[in-house]
Amino acid sequence: MATATTTASTERLSSYNPATGEVVGTVPIHTPAEVDAAVARARVAAQSWSTRSFEARTEELVAFRKALAAQADELASIIHRENGKPELEALVEVMMALGHIQHAAARAETAMAPRKVSSGMLANFRATVSYHPLGVIGVIGPWNYPLFTPMGSIAYALAAGNAVVFKPSELTPLIAVKVAEIAAKTFALSDLLQVVTGAGATGAALAKAGVDKVAFTGSAATGKRVMMAAAERLTPVLLELGGKDPMIVADDADLEKAAEACVYGALTNAGQACISVERVYVADAVHDRFVDEVVKQVRALKTGGDDGHLGAMTSAAQVAIVRDHLDDAVAKGATILTGGSDAISGNYIQPTVITGAEHSMKVMSDETFGPVIPIKRVGSLDEAVKLANDSTYGLGSTVFAGKGARAIADKLRAGMTSINSVMGFAGIPSLPFGGIGESGFGRIHGDEGIREFTRTKSTAEQVMSIPLNMMSFRQPKDMPKRLRGMIKQLYGEGVVAKAGDLWRRIRS
Ligand code: NAD
Repeated sequence: MATATTTASTERLSSYNPATGEVVGTVPIHTPAEVDAAVARARVAAQSWSTRSFEARTEELVAFRKALAAQADELASIIHRENGKPELEALVEVMMALGHIQHAAARAETAMAPRKVSSGMLANFRATVSYHPLGVIGVIGPWNYPLFTPMGSIAYALAAGNAVVFKPSELTPLIAVKVAEIAAKTFALSDLLQVVTGAGATGAALAKAGVDKVAFTGSAATGKRVMMAAAERLTPVLLELGGKDPMIVADDADLEKAAEACVYGALTNAGQACISVERVYVADAVHDRFVDEVVKQVRALKTGGDDGHLGAMTSAAQVAIVRDHLDDAVAKGATILTGGSDAISGNYIQPTVITGAEHSMKVMSDETFGPVIPIKRVGSLDEAVKLANDSTYGLGSTVFAGKGARAIADKLRAGMTSINSVMGFAGIPSLPFGGIGESGFGRIHGDEGIREFTRTKSTAEQVMSIPLNMMSFRQPKDMPKRLRGMIKQLYGEGVVAKAGDLWRRIRS
């Protein structure tokens, strides 16, 4: 946020490098009054932005994308320093975020195109559905993908004609401030994309600020608090929450590829992804070979250092959760094959492979959000599907199998499934992204992700008048009799007439 006009914050928040403990930078802690002021400015920007043509908006979004791309190294460096992920992963994150800006800008006009729908019985009407910007969107983001994840809401909200006020995580605010600086220089409307910073209180203020929708990404516990705060003004919410994503490996799967996908899916970003592989069910016949392959590949990975595959965990609090899950699994009889609690050093966790994992263990039921691969042997694919669906979450999922893969995928109770790949759905911007159950509701990405930030309007236009006007008190005396006939013909057991035929009969 550029400047505040009311009750300016005096306190500041520090962003730390989790690898070194050093302060990377500081940002203001914005007060509720400052949040309200930002939303008021955004409302003015939204009015102007919403009246521009799709072409004009696309042009500015493309300029924004190019400006971000020109500073990709700087953006990746900030993410690397305040989140702890390796620079390579930070660059991948920047690239994926840019892909969403490009996609949202290119698709908005098509996704929001008005469409004619059947007018049914009212054949003398033209029925149209159209989509319009909501106004101001409050985006509240997490720390694990501090650019890519919120951009999944921001880019689509802007492309749909809205202004955005974005509250990043208190652990990773600097990347958001940098993006807002670039936005203020690129967009003609400098208040179109603003950032307010602070911890939960600033987020809570945004949820109550009278925005037209809150797009929240974070934990299920906070999501519930956001929904309660938004309920005060009946502000609609989009909730992208956590997951406990299962992976199923069938006995006819390509085991080497399945292991490679499992290792990447569970360990990328040190396992701190909402769509991480969090639990693995492997067919009995191939269990031991699969485990051997996973262990072999995990042993080839390096944690920490400039060329490390895994970086530092973003917070000590997350390290404590992972440690607790590992200790709980060991206490309940699981076997640790690599890593483990003893191998945790500061914010670094060595990738940990666990066998004999059971649903009574936290590592199989709660979101671990760390570099852990808990594996369970299953006697049949039905058992695998049953266990995969035994979760309060329902975000992503993965299936490795031969010809039966699609049938297994269809049975999974999840928002998204990757077949014979991992996380594939997140890399395809035209696929809607989101979950069910404790993983939240609503969708980002894809045409659904654009329409998520619009209001749907229905228009019924009478294009010709007919003698019998149902929307009038002026009806002929025998109307009840005619209606009884209509009900029978349209909805009863008699011949189902087409609306046009029916009108002709009624008129005669
Ligand atoms: P979190 O819930 O702790 O915080 C998320 C955001 O909410 C932060 O900006 C925080 O400051 C803010 N916040 C905290 N209290 C608030 C309140 N009362 N009102 C409004 N805002 C408040 O989540 P996190 O630890 O930053 O992120 C990790 C979680 O996010 C994991 O569960 C992960 O699975 C989930 N996640 C989900 C997706 C998805 O798309 N489904 C993507 C990334 C992360």
